[in-house]
Amino acid sequence: MTVRASQEDHIVALATAPGKSAIALVRLSGPNPRLLLKSVFQPASQEGLIPRRPTLGRITGEGGEVLDQVLLTWFPAPASYTGEDVIEVSCHGSLLIVQRIIHRLLSQGARLAEPGEFTKRAFLSGKLDLVQAEAVRDLIESQTAFQARLAAEQLGGALSRRLEPVKTELVQILSHMETWLEFVEDEVTPEGKETLLGRQQKITRDLGQLAGGFELGRLIRAGIEVAITGSPNAGKSSIFNALLKNNRALVTVVPGTTRDAISETISIEGLPARLVDTAGIREARDQVEELGIEKTREYLARADVILFVLDANTAFGSGERGIWELVRERPTILVLNKQDLSQRLHLPEELQHSGCQKVSTSALRGEGMGHLMKALWREVTPETGVEKESFFLTNIRHYEAVRAAIRWME
Ligand code: GDP
Repeated sequence: MTVRASQEDHIVALATAPGKSAIALVRLSGPNPRLLLKSVFQPASQEGLIPRRPTLGRITGEGGEVLDQVLLTWFPAPASYTGEDVIEVSCHGSLLIVQRIIHRLLSQGARLAEPGEFTKRAFLSGKLDLVQAEAVRDLIESQTAFQARLAAEQLGGALSRRLEPVKTELVQILSHMETWLEFVEDEVTPEGKETLLGRQQKITRDLGQLAGGFELGRLIRAGIEVAITGSPNAGKSSIFNALLKNNRALVTVVPGTTRDAISETISIEGLPARLVDTAGIREARDQVEELGIEKTREYLARADVILFVLDANTAFGSGERGIWELVRERPTILVLNKQDLSQRLHLPEELQHSGCQKVSTSALRGEGMGHLMKALWREVTPETGVEKESFFLTNIRHYEAVRAAIRWME
């Protein structure tokens, strides 16, 4: 890849989340951010900026008024995130202060960075390859530890490293073939051909294995949607709540996020799963029942897994049959709830032998939730036996590229 020298202009952006906080970080990158800050920043001591060491000082406005007391850290090129000279300004986390500081830098000739532009510059200057640049976004967006680990591995170059031997081997095969083409006097022995073909097939198999993990990788990255359905009073909301109780809902640590009555995200061994309680949908739409049913159908059609909750204390009737017709072709887990009561449910043969997993629960007593979680994990883990620990493709672009490579090899 060509390594491009520093970009022409300076870009600036808030690097931390907008809003009130103790500290906010404004980042500035370009050919000479120190020069740009010269008339804006007054250091507290005469020492001046020392690479990678925070320097206390003040940022002043046009009239010389103090905008904020800040810590400035200078990362000289090329050992910075973007590969250019970068200066990070740690200021107080008020949006007003941040705005003023950014405006001040704009007035000195910087411009606002586009979304992802710091990472783009890191890519253009050869600090990150494309796969790593993509991993930055995944890492920032990760919700569970498992997602974060996968993204961090990619950022560390795991995917590129995984593919490096494949590339080396291919280049070798190619050079053999070219030699044969160019120097006709070099005899091409049948054994020679066989060996090359064997090596080539090995690569195809290897790539096939990598592509095979994509489905799970995609799920880990995007998370899955689990729809809970069943007849009224079967215990859908109770199952929803019991699953939540067992697995502290994600995102609730963020202040100000309100819990949604009908959908919550939990973590199944690091796989984010959005639970949708279709009972809630119908209740919320009480006035317009038709809409509620329509919406339920929509969720059922879209879900990666369906939990069909059945009341073990009630006989299987036409209501249950109607729901079965909707879900029978989908990945469905039969949840036989109310195990604590006398058992009146006899599953029809068709459900008995449908191949659907069956899990017995008592949502009231919180029993069977561990089994239900395991069943959910099994439902989405491909039968290829892809282990959680192995490397996954998580990105559709990578997957398509590997698939294209396989097609060419074939
Ligand atoms: P939904 O209409 O399917 O959402 O059902 P709910 O979760 O609202 O439950 C309906 C009723 O069944 C409530 O009174 C629950 O307390 C009760 N219930 C739910 N799960 C169980 C269970 O496992 N055992 C018993 N005995 N009652 C349950």
